[in-house]
Amino acid sequence: MNDTLMALLKLLLNGEVCSGERLGEALGISRAAVWKHLRQLRDFGLVLETLRGSGYRLQNPLQLLDKRYLETHIDPGLPINIKVESSIASTSQFLYQALSSGAERGPTALFAEHQTQGRGRRGRVWQSPFGSNLYFSVAWPYSQGVNSLEGVSLAIGVAICRALNGLGIAGVGLKWPNDVLFDQKKLAGILVEVGGDVSGECFIVVGIGLNVNMPQAVVIDQAWIDLRTLSQGRLWDRNQIAVKLLNELLPMLNAYSERGFEHYRQAWHSFHAYQNQPVKVIVGQQQIRGKCLGVDPSGSLRLDTGGGERVFSGGELSLRLD
Ligand code: ATP
Repeated sequence: MNDTLMALLKLLLNGEVCSGERLGEALGISRAAVWKHLRQLRDFGLVLETLRGSGYRLQNPLQLLDKRYLETHIDPGLPINIKVESSIASTSQFLYQALSSGAERGPTALFAEHQTQGRGRRGRVWQSPFGSNLYFSVAWPYSQGVNSLEGVSLAIGVAICRALNGLGIAGVGLKWPNDVLFDQKKLAGILVEVGGDVSGECFIVVGIGLNVNMPQAVVIDQAWIDLRTLSQGRLWDRNQIAVKLLNELLPMLNAYSERGFEHYRQAWHSFHAYQNQPVKVIVGQQQIRGKCLGVDPSGSLRLDTGGGERVFSGGELSLRLD
């Protein structure tokens, strides 16, 4: 997002009506240029209302992410480099490349107001309209090898649920391997990518998308929810949520290669949304039905098929209620 566009957005953030004339004067540009820039805001997923004769307003008031607030409010014990971008292709893609190339080495958290190519698993898209939700990735280096990170995506789910509980949000649940649900609807997604040595220097990039105040116009092909809806319309402070998430996530990542998943297994079950529910595991064209028994000590999914227990792991699987 260029400087003029950002300046225009800042004038509209509070959701109040602004006339084209006032916007033009404040920015030192013509009415036609204001109109052009307003149209560009729509490309970032922002919903603008035009009020005939009086001006323009954002459908949802916005609060921008504040790097300084994040830096000064996270627990000081674990130093981390914090970055905030207005728009980026994908926070995870950026950090993965930065760590692979050596451009970044230490723990880094990258937040974006907007992603043009937000990612889910296996090339799926994560909808990331501007300023509405949280989209961020955390890169963390390890020296014990990728093998020591088995089950980490499940522990990340536990950290997110604990952070949400800490904000007074009860009733969140986990779906194996990487979704945070509320009322069976998707509230947050987790994407974990690892790079480096199997048994030596390596790193993880944890991507998290958490719906906070999603514009209703966004189309998503499965049931979803945001914090605003589940809390009867409350407007959440995204900076405060981001701090809470980092304060749960960073100590967990720091200790993970020593502790392993076993340390988080009981907590994971306490959040498990599908425990003892009839489910199907989808592997390519195949569907395996059974009762969901939770996860084993490595974080693999346990299924009672009626004809014995089966255990599933790996990224090519999807789990659904049956
Ligand atoms: P799986 O169970 O295999 O993980 P999934 O559909 O949950 O399947 P993910 O890769 O975890 O897949 O997430 C991407 C999917 O999430 C998208 O295909 C879309 O259905 C949904 N989605 C995209 N953006 C959002 C969002 N902001 N909030 C909720 N759901 C979203």
